[in-house]
Amino acid sequence: MDKKLYEYNAYELSEMLRAKKISSVELTNSVLDRAEEVDDKVDAYLLTDRQMSLKMAENADKLISSGEAKPRLAGIPIGIKDNISTTGITTTCASRMLENYVPVFNATVIDRLTAAGSVISGKLNMDEFAMGSSTENSYFKTTKNPFDLSCVPGGSSGGSAAAVSCGEAVIALGSDTGGSIRQPASLCGVVGLKPTYGSVSRYGLVAFASSLDQIGPFGRCVKDVALLQDEIQGHDKMDATSADRKYTSLYDNLSEDISGLKIGMPAEYFGEGIKPEVAEAVMNSVRELEKRGATVASVSLPSTGYALSAYYIIACAEASSNLARFDGVKYGYRAKDCDGLTDMYEKTRSEGFGREVKRRIMLGTFVLSSGYFDAYYKKAKLLQKRIQQEFSDAFKSVDVIVTPTSPSEAFKIGDRVSDPLAMYAADICTVTVNIAGLPAVSVPCGYSASGLPFGMQIIGRKFDEQTILNLAQAHESAFGGFRRPKL
Ligand code: GLN
Repeated sequence: MDKKLYEYNAYELSEMLRAKKISSVELTNSVLDRAEEVDDKVDAYLLTDRQMSLKMAENADKLISSGEAKPRLAGIPIGIKDNISTTGITTTCASRMLENYVPVFNATVIDRLTAAGSVISGKLNMDEFAMGSSTENSYFKTTKNPFDLSCVPGGSSGGSAAAVSCGEAVIALGSDTGGSIRQPASLCGVVGLKPTYGSVSRYGLVAFASSLDQIGPFGRCVKDVALLQDEIQGHDKMDATSADRKYTSLYDNLSEDISGLKIGMPAEYFGEGIKPEVAEAVMNSVRELEKRGATVASVSLPSTGYALSAYYIIACAEASSNLARFDGVKYGYRAKDCDGLTDMYEKTRSEGFGREVKRRIMLGTFVLSSGYFDAYYKKAKLLQKRIQQEFSDAFKSVDVIVTPTSPSEAFKIGDRVSDPLAMYAADICTVTVNIAGLPAVSVPCGYSASGLPFGMQIIGRKFDEQTILNLAQAHESAFGGFRRPKL
């Protein structure tokens, strides 16, 4: 049977578009038809609008035929996580608070992609305000894992990972504060990159924890992730934390030659709390990479055990401050029938936010309060320094660090909703990377007995996305990479 257009990778489609073998309109229709076919089961999208997407596709086709469209993503449909602002298109953060919020400006990444002629395929589901690891915290619906519809896709960018995995988007954008790109990528068997802090503009990303948040790409192969990262990375004067430096094309410089590359294996990421099958799959992968010329050494990251506590203190502290803006006055939801201003604030925030968001605002407010600041927030910031130091010490002797992405494969929907600590444990392998501001990619590296994907995380030095993607590419060639879910 003929392969459908939505099944191709972005880098292949890019060539087909340029050679005029296909049009962006055909491709966009194929992707949206696929969404129509499976999204009532998967629930990845919060919004699709065929008319809007086709208009962008027609534009792309014009750009391509005029020869003006140099960017490689011209004409490619991209799914966007719903916390990335899109002019004229609702951006809900999967919250009741922003149910009807329509931004009047684009995030910088959206400006870049639309200038490149890319097509927005729709807005993707997520945990409310990116807080969660399963998309069960979405106000609207829970996204399902395309490999097993009774399991979660991971989170918070679960919609992005699931859409890419089952062909409802060719590639997608997510955001990662403590693992929200890598963990869902791992659970849905796709590739997800959390870029170095500062390399992708956060302008227009609705803030959760500003010092940790990064936008990043999802794809079904390493090349697609490199292509999308090429398009979105770069300095932006609208983001004060954006790094002003030279960015080179990751796609053009992708190389599978890993001879001499030094891989560090931290024992702290392979022990307690990590399912033995997951650890085994990662170690198998590393052995294969060793055969291809890499060398392996053990490294030590002794503060790893404290990382989750430090992360949840820092992230909640920043969230409590960032979410203060949702007060019923400036944006979105406002409660009815209020008795004065204070009552309006209280009712609006009680009704507009979900349980997890409220829990984090309370936690964050508590750790920042005068009596507890030193005991919690200050300690967490000290730990952050220590974790950063341990990584930079490790990177003196190795080029990359390899760990599992998630301690287990996808879990059942409903299993962890009433136990926030069990949910938080899903991030045990990923939060350190945000705390240290490093880049890391998750690639599929094996499957459970019931066919659910496992992920391997490759962590790099600051701004060394190239090396981790090269290793990811070598791994993909050795292991075959993405497997399509039967859906
Ligand atoms: N799951 C983590 C949390 O709930 C990470 C979220 C994220 O990266 N946005 O905070």
